[in-house]
Amino acid sequence: MSPADRSIPVALSARHAHLSQQHVEVLFGPGYTLTPRSDLSQPGQFAAEETIEVVGPKRSIPKVRVLGPARALSQVELAFTDGIVLGINLPVRLSGDVAGTPGAHLIGPRGAVKLTEGCIVAMRHIHATPQDAERLGVEDGQIVYVRFPGPRGLVFDEVIVRVSPDFATELHLDTDEGNAAGIRSGDRAEVVASICRDLCGLEACPIAPDMRDGLSEPYCAFAQTELSFFRD
Ligand SMILES: [Zn+2]
Ligand SMILES: [Zn+2]
Repeated sequence: MSPADRSIPVALSARHAHLSQQHVEVLFGPGYTLTPRSDLSQPGQFAAEETIEVVGPKRSIPKVRVLGPARALSQVELAFTDGIVLGINLPVRLSGDVAGTPGAHLIGPRGAVKLTEGCIVAMRHIHATPQDAERLGVEDGQIVYVRFPGPRGLVFDEVIVRVSPDFATELHLDTDEGNAAGIRSGDRAEVVASICRDLCGLEACPIAPDMRDGLSEPYCAFAQTELSFFRD
């Protein structure tokens, strides 16, 4: 497969909050519902007009965008640099998996909430339709790499694939990751499911002939190291 066949668009997520309807009403007033401002690429999701202030033990961050619709659990998705500003040691979690994570105070125009848990750095993830998952050769729950070319080019490890017909195919990274790789929303990433199959540039690699000879395990110096980059 050529790299073009394995490319998907990237969306960089700036810091944002998902709120429960109960918290929406504490922060913005009784009976309040979020006001859609712009649609997000994932169907049904929107950026709301509303923003909140997130207060940590060290400093606070104003004007954190609220995303809708309201969810069962409130959750604040931040970048590691935001955690430094706030004074919060943020864990990397899948969206929705907030048990035991740090909290923060949230301030809205009509009230404040003491969030006991829910501050996370979102785990890198790919939303994929079943059709695109097939094209990319990946499955729901699979951990893959993504690669960006360019002067600050990077390969990101530990990217989880989530497959659903309700998704639009897209890689979601945060602003720290986007800035580190010098990329913008709309740029394209190459999905690398296997270092050996997709990325190894060795002209005369011993793996292919060994595998043709009936060996089931690749014999590759890269694949044998303990480094996670060569996890395959
Ligand atoms: Zn989110
Ligand atoms: Zn996402």
